[in-house]
Amino acid sequence: MTSKDPLPQSRHLATEIPGPASTAAMQRRKEAVSGGLGTAMPVIVARAQGAIIEDIDGNRIIDLGAGIGVVTIGNSAPRVVKAVQEAVATFTHTNFTTVPYMGYIEVCEALNKLTPGTFKKKSILQNSGAEAVENAIKIARHYTKRSAVVVFEHAYHGRTNLTMALTAKNLPYKDGFGPFASEIYRMPMPYSYRWVGNPETIAEDALEMVIHKIEKEVGAHNVAAILIEPVIGEGGFIVPPTGFMPGLQKFATENKIVFIADEVQSGFARTGKMFAVEHENMEPDMIVSAKGIAGGLPLAAVTGRAEIMDSSHVGGLGGTYGGNPIACAAALAAIETIQEDKLIERAEHIGKILFESLNALKAKYPIIGEVRGRGAMVAIELVHAGTKDPNPEAMGKVIKYCQSKGVLILTAGTYGNVIRFLPPVVISDDLLKDALGVLAEGFATL
Ligand SMILES: *Cc1c(COP(=O)(O)O)cnc(C)c1O
Repeated sequence: MTSKDPLPQSRHLATEIPGPASTAAMQRRKEAVSGGLGTAMPVIVARAQGAIIEDIDGNRIIDLGAGIGVVTIGNSAPRVVKAVQEAVATFTHTNFTTVPYMGYIEVCEALNKLTPGTFKKKSILQNSGAEAVENAIKIARHYTKRSAVVVFEHAYHGRTNLTMALTAKNLPYKDGFGPFASEIYRMPMPYSYRWVGNPETIAEDALEMVIHKIEKEVGAHNVAAILIEPVIGEGGFIVPPTGFMPGLQKFATENKIVFIADEVQSGFARTGKMFAVEHENMEPDMIVSAKGIAGGLPLAAVTGRAEIMDSSHVGGLGGTYGGNPIACAAALAAIETIQEDKLIERAEHIGKILFESLNALKAKYPIIGEVRGRGAMVAIELVHAGTKDPNPEAMGKVIKYCQSKGVLILTAGTYGNVIRFLPPVVISDDLLKDALGVLAEGFATL
């Protein structure tokens, strides 16, 4: 088969997983590639389309991770492939601040329209989520002439120096990589499953606690930005309780603090809305996008209120590759795909299947402590039966079982005990149900 043949959207085991070709290649990887990089699944991809990854042994694996929530519209989505092929043959790079091009401008125009809020907005483009988060903080500090940044427990914002400081979890992200940037203040996150207070008043109580800490320990007038993930990603798909984020934004606005939503994982149709803040009708001052933005090409963006985005001096923002023309062409094709193929509705539909099937598993297996998430961003948290003690061992066994049967599922969580589902939303109902059947078998083997 050549890469031009369509890849059947079905699971197929040609060898055991990993097969002999992957095992040999993984040995070469071990010799050549830094040992600081992990491997979720030790197979080598030959090609991938839609929700299927074919490895070099001919196994067809169902992809429930989408390259960590990147290929939401499917791997090698047809419009993206065509747009990239045309763009790469037209020009590969000029640097937008050297000689501008239309793709960059059009992606910014699209983001300014797609993000919630009717106020005037502007955008900048970068290469990665971390770089975009850094730029959002840079801009907020310049605009407010303040330095403190408020972040939350369980947050993940990236692996650069500033974004490591913004990230909550030590291992594996931060351990031994300091010193870290200063003026970062971490606040409690209302994680409803593990909240020790009254579950009825969690949003108000957490809000009161956070505002008290900001006022007494930092001083609201010192805070440049409040940065939050509208659905916590790496931290385990924690959904902040209804009312918490709008309350925070109200406090931010009253105190002239820039409210930034890190929608790198939750944005771009993932949760059954274009952006997850729309679930609570919020209009953040700034939104950071990446992952699902360009169908797999490296691109990220900061979109925000025009007066904030325009506040730094000319030349204060930039970068060599940010908003690369090929990535921009891919983003425009990805946005067209989301709109034409109604993938926001599709994400909501996928979420319904996931919740139904995972809640049925939870009823059967008391080690599933909670099913949570929004749209096609759903997770289960595994505990020891009858307690809330994290159960990473069971998680590891289930994930390994699924891999051996050709289903790739990712993990997450501060306690390493969360299985997260981030399928490409173009996955067919049947393929998703096949994968969930394998997951159920995995639980049965425990
Ligand atoms: C992945 C992620 C980032 C970092 O993005 P990179 O492209 O890996 O730098 C930042 N914030 C959130 C919420 C993420 O999920």
